[in-house]
Amino acid sequence: MTATTSAKLESPLLAQVYQDEDGVYRGVEGNAEWAAEIRRLADARDAVILAHNYELPEIQDIAHHTGDSLALSRVAAEDKHSTIVFCGVHFMAETAKILSPEKTVLIPDAKAGCSLADSITAQQLADWKAQYPDALVVSYVNTTAGVKALTDVCCTSSNAVDVVKSLPADKEILFCPDKNLGAHVKRMTGRDNIHIWDGACHVHEEITGDMIAGSAKKQPNADLYVHPECGGTNAALDLADDGVVSADQVKVLSTGGMLTAAEQGVADGKKNDVLVATEIGMLHQLQRADSSRRFIPVNPEASCPFMKRITPAALLKSLCDGTDEIELERDVIDAAFKAVDRMIAIGNSPATR
Ligand code: SF4
Repeated sequence: MTATTSAKLESPLLAQVYQDEDGVYRGVEGNAEWAAEIRRLADARDAVILAHNYELPEIQDIAHHTGDSLALSRVAAEDKHSTIVFCGVHFMAETAKILSPEKTVLIPDAKAGCSLADSITAQQLADWKAQYPDALVVSYVNTTAGVKALTDVCCTSSNAVDVVKSLPADKEILFCPDKNLGAHVKRMTGRDNIHIWDGACHVHEEITGDMIAGSAKKQPNADLYVHPECGGTNAALDLADDGVVSADQVKVLSTGGMLTAAEQGVADGKKNDVLVATEIGMLHQLQRADSSRRFIPVNPEASCPFMKRITPAALLKSLCDGTDEIELERDVIDAAFKAVDRMIAIGNSPATR
């Protein structure tokens, strides 16, 4: 649910903002004038700007903190500003609100949804739980607040394996909604008592096993960073098992984990190319972390249309108008908080930039 706050701020750039045929805010370039305005408006609103690694480069660069879901959740929980402007998708802004209900949480375009979060509803989860009344529910953070409220522990791609390992081995687990991350967790934990929901991200599903294998065979010396939401995650691990590439070349990582690996590559003096299997916004941070190696997308078309709704114009309008504000019912926040709080306590998360 979203609403509009009454406090308005003026900007000379605001008159240029318009919505295109898809309702995306356009009309303002992410240049130096815009950047100065964003900083001024953020100060005036006592706002911290958070940006996910899949955002447009200019949004990543202007944010106070850029990172993966887990790292940004930790910032949202601890930051002292009274307003959080979340440049990401809707479930991420909702998670910030669950962790900091006393703060104003804004997302520059409430239509920035997520196909993965849409793949399970609260009612579907309630029905699934009824079939397995003794099971524990582990939900990926890419879920609505209503689903989180029915969850025992949330996880991100950074800590999904650690979260499942932290649960009693004899307990059945319902893992939702991402089938590819679920399969990865099952492989890494060796547990056979995990039931996995049949959901997926439409962007990562298009990074297939054939694409990953084809890229790796063309560049056998390249390292391979694979996000566990990818349709081809298991195929990537099979490449190492089959000896196509060495095991230490293949890494299944969250976006934050990819950055840490890139920085480690600098420390180790690595110079080989890196094939990157995730949303292409990630390449901006990787290239910033190490300008001496080439980071090559496995699927250059893998761009999330929801993340890209957060344009320079949308961020400017959000700060001027105080929109779109995240509002959640108190009972949903209270029910979801425990699951999200456990998530941020488990596992390591790479620092934000
Ligand atoms: S990349 Fe996929 S999982 Fe991430 S926000 Fe976009 S649709 Fe959702």
